[in-house]
Amino acid sequence: MADMFRFADDLGPLKIIHVQDAGIGLKAVLVIDNVAAGPSIGGLRMASDVTVEECFRLARAMTLKNAAAGLRHGGGKSVIVGDPGMPKTDKERLIRAMAAALRGEDMYIFGPDMGTNEECMAWVHDEIGRAIGLPRELGGIPLDELGATGFGLAQAAEVAADFDGLDLTGARVAVQGFGSVGIHAARFLAERGCVLVAASDSKGAVLDAGGLDIEALAALKAAGGGVIDGGGTTVERDAVITADCDILIPAARPDVIHEGNVDDVKARLILQGANIPATAQAEQRLSERGITNLPDFIANAGGVICAAMEYAGANQTTAFDTIKDKIRDNTLAVLESARADGVVLREAAVRLATERVRTAMSMRRWGSF
Ligand code: NAD
Repeated sequence: MADMFRFADDLGPLKIIHVQDAGIGLKAVLVIDNVAAGPSIGGLRMASDVTVEECFRLARAMTLKNAAAGLRHGGGKSVIVGDPGMPKTDKERLIRAMAAALRGEDMYIFGPDMGTNEECMAWVHDEIGRAIGLPRELGGIPLDELGATGFGLAQAAEVAADFDGLDLTGARVAVQGFGSVGIHAARFLAERGCVLVAASDSKGAVLDAGGLDIEALAALKAAGGGVIDGGGTTVERDAVITADCDILIPAARPDVIHEGNVDDVKARLILQGANIPATAQAEQRLSERGITNLPDFIANAGGVICAAMEYAGANQTTAFDTIKDKIRDNTLAVLESARADGVVLREAAVRLATERVRTAMSMRRWGSF
């Protein structure tokens, strides 16, 4: 395993745990980054190429996201090396074994992430009783079905548009990654008068300056099709990033806005639905170009806020009210502090979150984990 000490700084990680059961092919890692605010929350990712480093970066991102959202939770993340599309019985065995191996790690609460879903969380819950993102039948709030993250992105859009003098009525929206986050963001923005003019998924992209039919595209996706079958002009998949629009929502992969395309971005406002969708250099350049680029862990926190509310026993209405309050407050705080201090939005956001983590740490007794 790589030199784990190189990840460490004064915030964390608190623990890195290697989990292995060669008998059933379980190879996994848990990183608990920081628990000053409370037990860590973060998803269980299953992918063939996950690394300890990726797990650590995602755990730190959760520390910042949960702190920024003012949740009583620290950040953690777990990964299982494996193909998420493996036969269900094999997947269930691995996930149950992972949960059982971490039964005693009560400062980590499992959640769904790439390659895992509500059913996987039901298995974890059955093993150790410590999971969020559960099926409705077990008291869960189905955050992807309800669009918690897309709802939060629309809240951030309202605040940022107000701050920048952008009228949402008729504002043109481009979405990269027409999935759970992208579809719901488009829906909630359409309720505010925005028009979807570009959309993409893994198979391709479509443009229509007159407006794409969101529900028709969503139905196509639900049936296993792609956005390219839904009308409009078909273009090269990544052209959506530089499409003519007012609001760009990257909601798929990391680093899709980079040095090679950042100067061609036309949007005035970027809402980061995906995690780290822009490189650091591209974020700097977007700022120089006067484009409002709301960082991921501020704008896309709707999902984790919903999950934390589920864990606290809240109902759906309270969860969505909380998403609204927290994301609106944070978006405004970050916009104001970036403007006042002349820094890029991410720097203002990291400062806000880190200060909250340090304050929480200062109120704890040494070694109280
Ligand atoms: P999803 O699987 O429901 O949807 C992803 C969509 O992106 C799919 O339509 C897929 O076809 C498309 N896609 C994949 N690769 C692409 C590419 N290269 N170009 C264009 N489209 C591509 O996933 P999701 O839950 O919507 O999550 C999207 C992103 O948002 C992920 O990075 C995830 O980590 C992040 N995120 C999700 C949530 C949440 O609540 N679901 C919360 C915070 C962050």
